Amino acid sequence: MALKFTNTMSRKKEEFIPLEAGKAGLYTCGPTVYNYPHLGNLRCYVFVDVLKRVLVLNGLQVKHVMNITDVGHLTSDADEGEDKMEKGAAREGKSVWDIATFYTDAFKSDITALNILHPDVWCKATEHIKEQIEQVQTLVDKGYTYTTSDGVYFDTSKIEGYGALARLKVDELEGGKRVDLGEKKNKTDFALWKFSPTDVKRQMEWDSPFGRGFPGWHIECSSMSTKYLGEQFDIHCGGIDHIPVHHPNEIAQAEGATGKKPWVKYWLHNEFLVMNEEKMAKSSDGFLRLQTVFDKGYSALDFRYFCLSAVYRMPLQFSWEAMDGAKQSLERLKKIVLELKAVVEDAVVEKAEWGKKAVGYEEEFVSAVSDDLNTPQGLAVLWNVLRDKELKEGERLSLVGFFDSVLGLGLADVEEEVVEVPSDVRKLIDAREEARKNKDWVEADRLRLEVMEKGFSLSDTKEGVKVRRG
Ligand code: AMP
Ligand code: ZN
Repeated sequence: MALKFTNTMSRKKEEFIPLEAGKAGLYTCGPTVYNYPHLGNLRCYVFVDVLKRVLVLNGLQVKHVMNITDVGHLTSDADEGEDKMEKGAAREGKSVWDIATFYTDAFKSDITALNILHPDVWCKATEHIKEQIEQVQTLVDKGYTYTTSDGVYFDTSKIEGYGALARLKVDELEGGKRVDLGEKKNKTDFALWKFSPTDVKRQMEWDSPFGRGFPGWHIECSSMSTKYLGEQFDIHCGGIDHIPVHHPNEIAQAEGATGKKPWVKYWLHNEFLVMNEEKMAKSSDGFLRLQTVFDKGYSALDFRYFCLSAVYRMPLQFSWEAMDGAKQSLERLKKIVLELKAVVEDAVVEKAEWGKKAVGYEEEFVSAVSDDLNTPQGLAVLWNVLRDKELKEGERLSLVGFFDSVLGLGLADVEEEVVEVPSDVRKLIDAREEARKNKDWVEADRLRLEVMEKGFSLSDTKEGVKVRRG
């Protein structure tokens, strides 16, 4: 079964062939930590998590690196405007460093709640200033740059094939139009190093051979990924908003500095989470975050299920109705798994003993998720397994555990919740037990129905009757 991904560079689905057999180097553009992540950002990291789990499923040893942008990301992608971090600090009356720590922790706590595996390497831009200065210096030495009154810029006309990822037609961008370039030579040129402004005191600034200042936003990703994954690596991912500017600029920097092409073999981008047909964004007021989901009575894994119900390359429309659907589905799944657990007990059928039908489902699942991460199809296979009475219960339970290594819905270790049973329901349960002892099945069934009407369900196990809510 081949592992295939749509590579943004070729706009085609390609078979994944790692640079080094059995290994995969993966870099994800991480969060800009000036605010909480919104649900759109979190959709992106659920996608990356599935990608990583699918690589592992296919026998690859993954090295996953994610950066934390804690300096240099300006409010405009055109290297203008305020630094988002300094803006966040001013908004909250705290230091930039405090803001960065606070929102980095908030991000990590959200992804943990979403059952997203943490990367092997977290790297903060502010802890890699030396590496960024070195890469800028290499680009200066190789003649790719020029200096203006506010910084050192990359001259994109000097690199062959600039913007190929975005399919940018640079000539058309420039041709015939009068664009106010300021001191920039070409519209697509971008800052590698910005000088500290003379009129405002920045909280984050460093000395460099070019002058006191701070790194441009793009240089952190190319220098840190090179440090941890090497000069060429397998996969780079992020949201589609990075296709036009951030990722082409990362490519220009990395390929300019090392002279090796292609820097990255596969580029994967997730589509947006949208609300009322608009991209969810941090800069807009009232964005939804994971806490909002909790406040409305949903769990983080309800949101994860909602994300998995769509392919990552399609826009996903957020609504509370859709969240209701996800919540109900996940609750049903957990209930079925608990029922299976109660029946199966220790008799789980290990993978080596799966019958032909179980193996067929395994193959179906693996080929669905390996086909450009088709999680809706993967979920469909899961439901089919749970409905298929021809499978042994032990096989079904074992398959659920296997599928959950990719889905990450917490199904493998779902535990019976401790339910508080009100005294009137307890009396009905005891009466039913009595009826069963007396082999009065009609009365026992009637009492079970009465219990169900009160919002509880019963299952009879070796250890006695188990009570569940719903
Ligand atoms: P940021 O913290 O703004 O740098 O964004 C973190 C990641 O979330 C980036 O890879 C973005 O491309 C991605 N992203 C931003 N907005 C959305 C959205 N509405 N839906 C999905 N992904 C998004
Ligand atoms: Zn990046």
